[in-house]
Amino acid sequence: MLIKSPMKMQVVDAGTGDVIEELHNVGGLMPPAKDRCQICATKHEPELPHNRDSLFYQMAFNGEHGRWPTWADAMAHCSDDMRAAWTAELQTHGVDVNPAPPPPEPEQPKCLAPENALYPPGTDIDLSSTSDDAIKRVPAKIIAVAPPRAPIEFAVADQLGKPRPWSFTPNRRRSNTYVIEYIDEHGDPVRLFVPEKKLKAGIQPEPQQNGTDDPATAEDRS
Ligand SMILES: [Zn+2]
Repeated sequence: MLIKSPMKMQVVDAGTGDVIEELHNVGGLMPPAKDRCQICATKHEPELPHNRDSLFYQMAFNGEHGRWPTWADAMAHCSDDMRAAWTAELQTHGVDVNPAPPPPEPEQPKCLAPENALYPPGTDIDLSSTSDDAIKRVPAKIIAVAPPRAPIEFAVADQLGKPRPWSFTPNRRRSNTYVIEYIDEHGDPVRLFVPEKKLKAGIQPEPQQNGTDDPATAEDRS
């Protein structure tokens, strides 16, 4: 390995002025003494690893590669047997020669609409309203169906192809929850979270804050 350098350094005989040797220099580093490894400035046999902890090695390596050397780098020129022996030896000292890259974030399963949903997302439905003492049909749309116990915010985000929110409301329902949107008399969109049995029974368009009207919760409060 040759240290690439922005400048050359010439060793000149002070008496004659002849160039004795041309050395490569990195970022102002003085070249190692001649009896030392020219890569890591440490005394070692050529077949042995470089000294990863040598400051010279670290500076020179960083100048060439733009990162700090690892023990794997320091052993790259060694034979397989030598690498294996040093790797084992370093491991007895608690040094991880090839630190594993951090595992990728596990892909969270998508909260897809359950196959047994009464209506799939995108279905237009009518909500019946009994205000004004007359039955009124209010057009609405099912925008998502959350499976049992799935956070409704996640189901909405996943099924609308949007990023999941940081926070969510625990969903303790054991049945599907339908997220239904309609436009109220003021022209504002209203979102309902409707348990399946209420949808089967026919629902009133009364907005709820979230999916916390869990039967179990209601029992706990009584
Ligand atoms: Zn060396």
